[in-house]
Amino acid sequence: MTRFFRPSSSIPGALPGLSSPAVDPAPAVPLSDRVTHPSPLHPPGVDGLTGLSNRTGLETVLQHRLTADEADRTAVLSLDLDFFTRVNDSLGHRAGNALLVQVAQRLRDATRPDDVVARIGGDEFAVCLSGLEAAEHAHTIAARIYDRLEQPMALGNQTVYTPASIGVVADLTPYDSVEVVLRNANTALNEAKDVPHRPYVVYEAAMTRRARAQLSLDTALRQALDRSEFVPFFQPILALDDGSLHGVEVLARWRHPDDGLLTPDTFLDIAEDTGLIVPIGHQVIRKACDAVCALRRRQPGAPPLSLTANFSRQEFFRAETYAFLTDLFDTYDLPPTDFTMEISERTVAGIAAEDVTAFQNLKALGVGILLDDFGTGFSSLQSLRRLPVDGLKIDKGLLADTNGQSWNEDLIDLIVQMGHTLGHTVTAEGVERTDQLHALRGMDCSYGQGYLFARPAPASALGSLLAAPFRSRFWRTGRGDS
Ligand code: C2E
Ligand code: CA
Ligand code: CA
Repeated sequence: MTRFFRPSSSIPGALPGLSSPAVDPAPAVPLSDRVTHPSPLHPPGVDGLTGLSNRTGLETVLQHRLTADEADRTAVLSLDLDFFTRVNDSLGHRAGNALLVQVAQRLRDATRPDDVVARIGGDEFAVCLSGLEAAEHAHTIAARIYDRLEQPMALGNQTVYTPASIGVVADLTPYDSVEVVLRNANTALNEAKDVPHRPYVVYEAAMTRRARAQLSLDTALRQALDRSEFVPFFQPILALDDGSLHGVEVLARWRHPDDGLLTPDTFLDIAEDTGLIVPIGHQVIRKACDAVCALRRRQPGAPPLSLTANFSRQEFFRAETYAFLTDLFDTYDLPPTDFTMEISERTVAGIAAEDVTAFQNLKALGVGILLDDFGTGFSSLQSLRRLPVDGLKIDKGLLADTNGQSWNEDLIDLIVQMGHTLGHTVTAEGVERTDQLHALRGMDCSYGQGYLFARPAPASALGSLLAAPFRSRFWRTGRGDS
């Protein structure tokens, strides 16, 4: 008998299907052989691809545990794979399936025969641990599973890494509903996803309160959109060789009727999770174009102003964005060459082939594309060469003094030289001091932006931003040290 399939008699509350001849053949057959040829007639409660329990199977077992006075010795882990979609998109569904099968095997190897491992969605798994002597044992097992899944996996001639996020509900005593157990495990899982390299997160009631708060934020964001409360702020970007104005970056703000002006850290995550970032981004960019047009009408002779706007992954790769931009350029008579899209380097690490096509399509419109927050996303040099981008924008974290150490000048110099070697412009953001400006100019960094020159300002300040005497204030001595 393999550990994988066992007679239902050994599992209290197990599914009848688990002991059926269709899935419990003897002698033992290695998992990989079995699951790559799944029976089309897999019994209810069993996942056809991996042979694990499915959601129904897991729920049946959990229901039994809750009603059999074993709740205090039972824990539930909820897991999903961090990069599964990427594997599926880049290597295809067969490879994706093979990966799920290997994950199933690792989960079985990391648990005991009496534990129930289930695949409850595409790349979502759950484990019901039983017979635990202390709730903390669930933590140990979660950490072990995390370690096992962190090891590279061979898929054909490729090696892939698919670390998992794990949420834990450690003691089922307070529960009388399977649905609530699984929901709470999933809430903890969602928290775990926000903390890279943390093996697991144990559920606490505060998480549900936070999740509810997010739900009400979601409703508030929808209302704010309807009331047109999202507005653009503008921050100048200067050419570092001569201090001339290169353009302005558009940064979203929420004019909250009660709480005042809110920065994106208060709404961006939830707006991205819910997809609301798309209409919010559109509202902000349209208003930015309105402001630029109004300025043009007031100052007909003013030189054209180049706009740079931020795009989240959810916006950048959808066909709708292409249509939005063509309409924008038409409506505002804005040359696409005066518009630059910024996308975080983190969102393009390990990018799939069809995503490169999206890049190329947008590029063909004539817009500029910058990799924002550069230095945080571990892009390979290979992908940097493959993507049609115009420039890199060094993450402001690299310019900041942290833990008593001064900013990382050597590293920035390296990025500037690398960017230039690849034919890209390099922008430094977060420039706060004249010594930084001086050093960046010495490195031949193309553009700079930061509080030293100006903080982001509302549309009403756009005219004075454009007229500000940056050159005479900061470029007086020729090398930026005023
Ligand atoms: P980002 O694109 O990296 O923008 C730079 C952030 O640094 C801005 O924060 C800006 O206000 C701030 N900043 C500028 N100069 C300095 C400086 O010298 N020192 C320091 N410490 N900070 C400086 P903000 O406006 O809060 O925006 C945060 C992030 O939100 C942006 O980071 C961007 O990723 C995102 N974001 C902003 N507007 C939009 C939008 O319309 N759509 C999308 N998708 N994302 C947006
Ligand atoms: Ca940006
Ligand atoms: Ca940035």
